[in-house]
Amino acid sequence: MANNIDLDKETLFIVSQTFKALGDPTRIRILHLLSVKECSVGEIVEHLSLGQSTVSHQLRFLKNLRLVKSRREGTSIYYSPEDEHIMDILEKTIEHSNHD
Ligand SMILES: [Zn+2]
Repeated sequence: MANNIDLDKETLFIVSQTFKALGDPTRIRILHLLSVKECSVGEIVEHLSLGQSTVSHQLRFLKNLRLVKSRREGTSIYYSPEDEHIMDILEKTIEHSNHD
């Protein structure tokens, strides 16, 4: 278990995968935007000046890891953060980058 003196294999794998997922500037920008407001693909494209296929690709990646979730409304799909721990890590790291 995670509280033992060493981490079990599965926990270690998930932690590494999580930091890998957070270690990409485009994914960081998308996650940060989604922490501010729920967005459709088109809105993310517009706010971040990214290509549609880049955004779709990264959203699929983030969804597979359950870092974002989606919700259908009519013909649109809206994306938001799935996990508050991840958003805490991101927010803390942004704070860390900005403090003296
Ligand atoms: Zn710090």
